[in-house]
Amino acid sequence: PMLRVAIMGLGSYGNRVAEAMKDCKKAKLVGAISGTPSKLKDWQGKYGIPEKNCYNYETYDQIKNNPEIDVVYITTPNALHHDQVIKVASLGKHVICEKPMALNAKEGQEMVDACKKAKVHLLVGYRMHFEAKTLEVIRMRNAGEFGKIMFFQGQCGFRIGDPTQWRLNKQLAGGGSLMDIGIYAINGSRYMVGEEPVWVTAQETKTDPVKFKEGVDETIQFQLGFPSGAVASCLSTYSMNNLDRFFLNGEKGFAEMQPSTGYGPIKGRTNKGELTQPHMTHQTVQMDAMAGIILEGQQPPVPVNGEEAVKDLKIIDAIYKATKTGEKVALKL
Ligand code: NAD
Repeated sequence: PMLRVAIMGLGSYGNRVAEAMKDCKKAKLVGAISGTPSKLKDWQGKYGIPEKNCYNYETYDQIKNNPEIDVVYITTPNALHHDQVIKVASLGKHVICEKPMALNAKEGQEMVDACKKAKVHLLVGYRMHFEAKTLEVIRMRNAGEFGKIMFFQGQCGFRIGDPTQWRLNKQLAGGGSLMDIGIYAINGSRYMVGEEPVWVTAQETKTDPVKFKEGVDETIQFQLGFPSGAVASCLSTYSMNNLDRFFLNGEKGFAEMQPSTGYGPIKGRTNKGELTQPHMTHQTVQMDAMAGIILEGQQPPVPVNGEEAVKDLKIIDAIYKATKTGEKVALKL
């Protein structure tokens, strides 16, 4: 059987996922939810979605009675995820939600609880967790090929354009670069080091307070400490291009990836040589893997569930706290 997916929020990422799903073997786009009738018409034509599987934000509770839709994939702005995930769960449908899953850990936990209560899967669009070169680095680390892990560096950023976009609106984005792109360094720290951090320190800098208003971070540097003694040093920014780099250093070896989390192809090498796993469209691999999780009960190599996302949100909460207080914040994941 195929996982039958409806996408909510037909913007730039929703379109990317829809295009990528054309090549999926286990997942199929069958429905759409949008507030814009012309987008629904367009998607019916582009992706062969039947009219009866199209909804708007007022009508989508009827999905409850639509046996042709298994899961709703939410690709709306960050601040909407919480209520939409909880509503979809209440309709008895599985949910895939884009990152950041919510604006803070409290919201995230409410979403996890709601999905648990409704007995539906809650998965988060962490596409790197299925990417072949990333998984090879994780395999090598687990096999001890880098020795004891000492250090991780994650640099994630891009120069953001249009100042009127929702990503620069605190109400819709919940923050700035950290919510959007810095989250890759947070999540990457965890899957590259292979431990959960126990403390965080962070510093914020802002060069353009007009573009980056109160509560919208432009650049944050943060450091994480891990139980083994390993440390991570990360940079999240909305004002530098060509910043997509991971570096993992162990006592016996290293891995470096650049680009490390962009749409790819990911490029990288270790002390043993180039990473040569072939590139596949991340969202295609992700959706086939998520079909395996939802329909066949498969366990992904790195978890992508709501609990996993709450850990990242706890770190985000702590980083914002540390930027304000200047103090080291303890973490309990
Ligand atoms: P976008 O602005 O291109 O699309 C957002 C869509 O939501 C638009 O179609 C918009 O019309 C719709 N929308 C519904 N209600 C809205 C409201 N009240 N206000 C504003 N827009 C509303 O944004 P995007 O780049 O597609 O990002 C969407 C989500 O996907 C974000 O959470 C983002 O972090 C995530 N994302 C993830 C990745 C990834 O690689 N995993 C990449 C890009 C974006």
